Amino acid sequence: MMYIPYGRQTVDEEDIQAVVEVLRSDYLTTGPAIVEFEQKVAEQVGAKYAVAIANGTAALHAACFAAGIQQGDEVITTPITFAASANCVLYCGGTPVFADVKKDTYNIDPEDIRRKITDKTKAILVVHFTGQPCELDEIHSIAKEHHLMVIEDAAHALGADYKGKMVGSLSDLTTFSFHPVKHITTGEGGMITTDDEALYKKLILFRSHGITRDETLLQSNEGPWYYEQLELGYNYRITDIQCALGISQMNKLERFVDRRRALVMRYQEALKDIAGIVTPIEAEGCHSSWHLYVIRVEKRREIFETLRALGIGVNVHYIPVYRHPYYQNHGYQSVVCPNAEQIYEGLISLPLFPGLTDEQQDYVIEQVKKCVERQEG
Ligand SMILES: *Cc1c(COP(=O)(O)O)cnc(C)c1O
Repeated sequence: MMYIPYGRQTVDEEDIQAVVEVLRSDYLTTGPAIVEFEQKVAEQVGAKYAVAIANGTAALHAACFAAGIQQGDEVITTPITFAASANCVLYCGGTPVFADVKKDTYNIDPEDIRRKITDKTKAILVVHFTGQPCELDEIHSIAKEHHLMVIEDAAHALGADYKGKMVGSLSDLTTFSFHPVKHITTGEGGMITTDDEALYKKLILFRSHGITRDETLLQSNEGPWYYEQLELGYNYRITDIQCALGISQMNKLERFVDRRRALVMRYQEALKDIAGIVTPIEAEGCHSSWHLYVIRVEKRREIFETLRALGIGVNVHYIPVYRHPYYQNHGYQSVVCPNAEQIYEGLISLPLFPGLTDEQQDYVIEQVKKCVERQEG
């Protein structure tokens, strides 16, 4: 039986050749492909600096480190996300605080951010769920009022824009992921973008053990061999092999996003008037880059099981983060975000990736319709 996954990379001969070239070169890591990939992403999103890193989770960890998150600090984030968006705060000794999402976009609600601010709040970490940018104007004005940093987890939103400006150029720090289901892939990989030189320097240190040879940073200089560890960093480096793939993939970003948009238009057209299905909306002034196509249904379990049995790789994004046993066992037993809970009950992600053919999508649509109509009837 044919199996259609919910997401999949698109890798062509050109991508493969780019990787092979690096394998024949002098640098497998810490070489020129990393810098070139960083410049390419920085240019694409309109940021001054970009730092390529091991994966999207490392990018979030680095962003929280650069933002100065530490023990006692609170960071407000959304529950409708992958656990990494909150875990990164815990890595730094901070406390994630969950603000509820809006019922229409499923993105973090600025009003609830306001309610969750305390004198310990240090940053707001937003997630552009499915690729749809959050209400950044409101979020930036809250941040300004309360002197908070804004970190964007843009793992879903490479290629999205907010009021005509690319995601990646809008807040203190923005992180991306290049996992194979995301817009472009490096296998594993991530990136942080910023316009702030001081933050950029912290990110560079953090990526490689906190060690530097930069003479402007050294506290003393004992000779040409000399280096210093200034911070407790990690080995979060990415390889040139991965970055060569990333450079080649970036050349196709626009095509990938266009194809995702075209597929979403077909889904919307086919599903918008079906009783029992809530289709997603695109908010005013935003262009989503459509990482996910998420609908809501009433009998999620039956529909999920039926579609999986038909070879359709549906998924659920996401279980509210605070409901995971780790969070329940670490002080989040009484946390409830009512909108997130309600939305989670019906969420189901349908296959969406650039290589999905019209024929495959027609099959998905036909089966979804049949299944929902049966449940409704
Ligand atoms: C994919 C993803 C991440 C983590 O990225 P990795 O590269 O898998 O570490 C973080 N946040 C969100 C919202 C994601 O979708």
